[in-house]
Amino acid sequence: MEPYASMSKEELLEERKKVKAVYKEYQNSELHLDMSRGKPSTAQLDLSMGMMDVLSSDADLRCEDGTDCRNYGVLDGIHEAKVLLGDMIECNPDNIIIYGNSSLNVMYDTISRSMTHGVMGSTPWCKLDKVKFLCPVPGYDRHFAITEHFGIEMINIPMHSTGPDMDMVEQLVSSDASIKGIWCTPKYSNPTGITYSDETVRRFARLKPAAPDFRIYWDNAYGVHHLYDMDQDNLIEILAECKRAGNPDMVYKFASTSKISFPGSGVACIATSLNNLEDIKKQLKVQTIGHDKVNELRHVRFFQDIHGIYEHMMKHADIMRPKFELILNRLDEEITGLEIGKWYTPKGGYFICFEALEGCAKKIVSRCKKAGVQMTPAGAPFPYGKDPHDSVIRIAPSYPSMEDLRMAVEVFIVCVKLVSIDKLLE
Ligand code: PLP
Repeated sequence: MEPYASMSKEELLEERKKVKAVYKEYQNSELHLDMSRGKPSTAQLDLSMGMMDVLSSDADLRCEDGTDCRNYGVLDGIHEAKVLLGDMIECNPDNIIIYGNSSLNVMYDTISRSMTHGVMGSTPWCKLDKVKFLCPVPGYDRHFAITEHFGIEMINIPMHSTGPDMDMVEQLVSSDASIKGIWCTPKYSNPTGITYSDETVRRFARLKPAAPDFRIYWDNAYGVHHLYDMDQDNLIEILAECKRAGNPDMVYKFASTSKISFPGSGVACIATSLNNLEDIKKQLKVQTIGHDKVNELRHVRFFQDIHGIYEHMMKHADIMRPKFELILNRLDEEITGLEIGKWYTPKGGYFICFEALEGCAKKIVSRCKKAGVQMTPAGAPFPYGKDPHDSVIRIAPSYPSMEDLRMAVEVFIVCVKLVSIDKLLE
């Protein structure tokens, strides 16, 4: 395959004619396909239906210490849920608070509390002239939506194959006391799919922030979401690493079972130092009498222990893997040689991140839409929805059926070709 950039104008025009004809065919097929949503498919949700059977009307709903889970109480979660989620995120149960159904909610609360009440006695952020956050890009749009909502200025940090640009992170964090945090999705990142390297995690743990209330927001949303049984990414555990580095209070780690059991009906948690936990609980005890212990118990009885979660995640992987491979293989077959796009091959998570030629992402997404294929809006994985190079497109293969995906990826490929040719002809 000859790269488009080395073709003559005549050759490109000829190629455009062929590609446009295929595009027209798709346009006339009245497709309604969706590769925009990073949510589990129905088959994946079915994997957790056994959870409906573990608590019947005659079940004993007392937890291990005798607490009746049907009643009020237990602010920070039942012990067995802390053990289960603690094993899942490789943290001591004593360092965990179990929350409700959403980790994003916990992140929102964490920022909100810092705004109104500060962090461990520091000045509330709302009283400061300026508060800034570092945002590795591309990243998760809902992280950026939280910081934008609170008027926090966001600074883009480029992502490399090893994680965020740590030279830039170190320089900014150590020199600017208005920088109070950084958003991280360290494993099978949304949307790049990369996992932070050992060196990156070690450098994170050894940051020397100018602000004492600087925290790393470590969103381990995809910690156990592997695609393969043997070939998996490893991530150094950040709480222990921060402790080793003499920065025990510098990180909040978030996780949930959203894409393990049921999104929106799972169990979320935060793991952090005992000092931070004490600070958080001052607010939490005003906010609630306790979260949904019945759901915590249901999760524990269904999964039993961490091995139950690992086995369950391999069933998810059996559904997800063919979808990822389908898209990656077709991209490789159709795009690689043309040199009109780049992507990373993830070993887990929920996304493939396609990097088109500069200035092409919006046009590709729009072309896809006109042919009946919905993609995540271009720009969404960036603060303020602005991709400075207009090149990143997030592909979410989980929700559509294999049949739909097969068609959707063909449409995507044709749109990438068409928009790239147009760019090269400019
Ligand atoms: N964090 C990341 C990185 C995500 O991609 C998602 C969902 O897509 C969430 C958090 C949402 O988690 P939860 O359902 O626990 O709020």
